[in-house]
Amino acid sequence: MNIAIDGPAGAGKSTIARLAAKKLGFIYVDTGAMYRAIALYLLDTETNTDDPAALQDALKQVHINIVYEQDVQHVFLNLQDVSAEIRSEKVGNMASKTSQIKAVREKLLDLQRNIAKENNVIMDGRDIGTNILPNAELKIFLTASVDVRAKRRFDELRNMGEWPDLEVIKADIEQRDYQDMNREIAPLKQAEDAVRIDSSDMTIDEVVAKIYDLAKQAGREKEMDEWK
Ligand code: C5P
Repeated sequence: MNIAIDGPAGAGKSTIARLAAKKLGFIYVDTGAMYRAIALYLLDTETNTDDPAALQDALKQVHINIVYEQDVQHVFLNLQDVSAEIRSEKVGNMASKTSQIKAVREKLLDLQRNIAKENNVIMDGRDIGTNILPNAELKIFLTASVDVRAKRRFDELRNMGEWPDLEVIKADIEQRDYQDMNREIAPLKQAEDAVRIDSSDMTIDEVVAKIYDLAKQAGREKEMDEWK
């Protein structure tokens, strides 16, 4: 069974998807981490992403592997675990830019679909319900107001020992939303058959419980369909 969770930056997708996956015994797949790993490589190598040939050469050198250790996803970039390094704002902003590039998206498509084919997954991202797993048994569009999302990102970065500026974070989030929703390929949008959850005034536990209930219901419907 596949569950797709899409939504804008800072909506709490990863926290919620991780907890819901644990409760359901599913694998949690964070696709944003894959885009971040590619962005990290392009930053480190100072690749000129406006030069198609340079970009193509760089992408050939990028090997992304996903490994699960005690249900926690680790992202390896060319055999190096970059799971912690990719969490910075700098890498997130670069990922939002480079994820607009067709060759970047194509590189990750099969990796994501193959993981979903072989496992019960909760996969989060921007285009999972609309593009990667259009037949997912359950699709969630998780969102929250921009102020709530900025504050959550701010708290997350503080916990990582950074000293962010709330207004800068809010501007970054707005810019990222705009880029993600307005790009040509696989833009962020709610799938027609997705359940919309606005988590602005909900606790993490409430959102997880709601997704858990929806997943159980979707599982029962799938079983009934298979009986027919
Ligand atoms: O979710 P996260 O903030 O880690 O994602 C980083 C960036 O990667 C997003 O802003 C988005 O541009 C891109 N992304 C995407 N498609 C996905 C997941 C992430 O374009 N499925």
